[in-house]
Amino acid sequence: MVFAFRKVFFVSFVAFVLAFSSWPAAQGKRVYISVDMEGISGVVGDDQTSAGQPEYGRSRKLMAEDANAAIRGAFAGGATEVVVNDSHGSQRNLLPEDLDPRARLISHSFKRHGMVEGLDDTFDAVIFVGYHAKADSPRGLFAHTGSGVVKDVQVNGRSAGEGGLNTLMAHWYGVPVVMISGDDVAVEQQKEWTPTVRGVVVKRAINMRAVEARPIAEARRDIEAAAKEGVAGSRKPSRDRASAYRVRMQLRNFTIPEVATAFSEIQLVAPDTIEFTRSTMPEAYRVIRVLYRFINPD
Ligand SMILES: [Zn+2]
Repeated sequence: MVFAFRKVFFVSFVAFVLAFSSWPAAQGKRVYISVDMEGISGVVGDDQTSAGQPEYGRSRKLMAEDANAAIRGAFAGGATEVVVNDSHGSQRNLLPEDLDPRARLISHSFKRHGMVEGLDDTFDAVIFVGYHAKADSPRGLFAHTGSGVVKDVQVNGRSAGEGGLNTLMAHWYGVPVVMISGDDVAVEQQKEWTPTVRGVVVKRAINMRAVEARPIAEARRDIEAAAKEGVAGSRKPSRDRASAYRVRMQLRNFTIPEVATAFSEIQLVAPDTIEFTRSTMPEAYRVIRVLYRFINPD
C-alpha cells in the first residue's frame, strides 16, 4: 500500500514536471512580426535601403538577422507560430533562406494592409522590428510616414507615423504590441502609443541622416531578450475600437490632394490637405495606403 502510494506520487510528480517544462509551448501563442529596414541594426545610409543600390545586398541580410533575433526570442517566450511580414519598400527584401526556418514569411506587394498584412484577432502579440521615426520629426534616421510625399497623418486628431498606424490596426484586432526595435526616436514615439512596450534602441539618431550605431551583436541580443519577455508576458487586451476613424492627411504636394478629390467622400480642406472618414480602422488604413502609394500624378 505504501509502495503503491509512493508510485502514484512519483508518477504524478513526473507528470507535473513534464507539464510545467512544456508550459510555454502549451500556451500556443501566435506572434506577428512586422519588419521594416531603416531601423535595422547596422543600416546607416540611404544607399542601403532600395533594390539596385550598392549596399542593398548587405542590408537585406542585416534585416534578416534582426528578424531572426526577434523570432528566436518569440519562440523562447512561448510562441508556437511566428509570421513575419516584410514591410519595407517593395516588401520583398527578406530572403526566405535567410530566415529562421520556423517562421513563415509574407512577401511582396500588393498588400491591402501593407506593413500589417495578415494580422488579425487570432494573434497573441505583435512585434515591430527595424522601425523609424514619423514624417517631419526633427530627428530620426530617414524619418517618414509611408512615403516621402506625406507630411503628416492624423487619425481622430492624433498624429501617427507607421508605428502609430500599425498600432491602431493591432488594437482594432485586440492584439498587444509587445516590442519594437529601431532608432531612439522610433522607440520614443512608439512609447507614446504603447507605454509598456519593450523598446530596443539599436542606434541613436544624430539627425535625419547620421547615427551612432550600437555594436550589432549586442543589439541583436537585446532584441532577442525583449521579444522573449514581451511574448512571455503578453496578455490580449479587449479590442480597442473607435466608433469612426476620421483621417486627415497633409501632403508635400498639391497634386495628390487634387487627384484624390475624384472620390466624393474625400474632402480637400487645404490645398495640401485632405480628410475622410471610415467606420473601421482597416478600411481607413487601406485608403491611407492608396493615397500615399498608389496615386501617381505623372
Ligand atoms: Zn517604413
